[in-house]
Amino acid sequence: MNIILLGAPGAGKGTQARILVEERGMIQLSTGDMLRAAQTSGTEMGKKVAAIMDAGQLVTDEIVIGLIAEQLDADHGEQTGGFIFDGFPRTLAQADALEALLAEKGQGLDAVIELRVDDDALVDRITGRFTCGDCGEVYHDRTKPTKVPGVCDVCGSTNLKRRADDNEASLRQRLMEYYKKTAPLIGYYHAKGKLRVVDGLQDMRAVTADVAKALSG
Ligand code: ADP
Ligand code: AMP
Repeated sequence: MNIILLGAPGAGKGTQARILVEERGMIQLSTGDMLRAAQTSGTEMGKKVAAIMDAGQLVTDEIVIGLIAEQLDADHGEQTGGFIFDGFPRTLAQADALEALLAEKGQGLDAVIELRVDDDALVDRITGRFTCGDCGEVYHDRTKPTKVPGVCDVCGSTNLKRRADDNEASLRQRLMEYYKKTAPLIGYYHAKGKLRVVDGLQDMRAVTADVAKALSG
């Protein structure tokens, strides 16, 4: 099963994707994570996109489509539960490219889950977010703190990080980009009969339960 998790920055896509990976052996393809990894490893592409990401703008379609194409061709070993596209596509051009890439492999999209959250909640979600730099677990100061302060619950690492773009000014720009360039995908996938809307304002477990229902329906 191949699915897209669609939603504004902070809607809970990464959180729910990690649960689907754990529970269903799916493969999470997050273009944001891939771009941050390129920055950390200091590649030319990573250097090129750093300022764009910090400013909350979208990087070019060409770059992210290239990243996804590479991952669709990669060997993902034991994980065979299908792909979760997290933070991709973000433009109609990316959506078309994804469809073509999947079609080349004789595959398609099974569902697009929109996690709907209002803007006020997003500020709190984004400004409270931190992640484990080693295993990628996602936390929040208030809604999902670590059990032991400063230590990752999953892997025990103390390498907990906040993103450079997780501040109010950058979020405002990211939201603008979302409504201008990504939100049109909601109508697009609705028209294709693929869209399922989940109330992302509920607590994490309730969101997970509704995502499961949306995928079985
Ligand atoms: P996205 O991948 O859509 O940007 P994340 O999954 O990283 O969003 O979630 C953003 C922040 O909100 C994180 O700090 C996460 O722990 C928190 N969060 C995610 N889902 C919920 C939820 N249902 N209720 C409260 N906080 C949540
Ligand atoms: P995310 O981790 O999904 O919040 O993405 C962080 C940043 O990476 C975004 O604000 C963009 O600058 C960039 N980015 C991630 N995915 C895409 C995409 N599909 N298209 C363009 N830019 C992207």
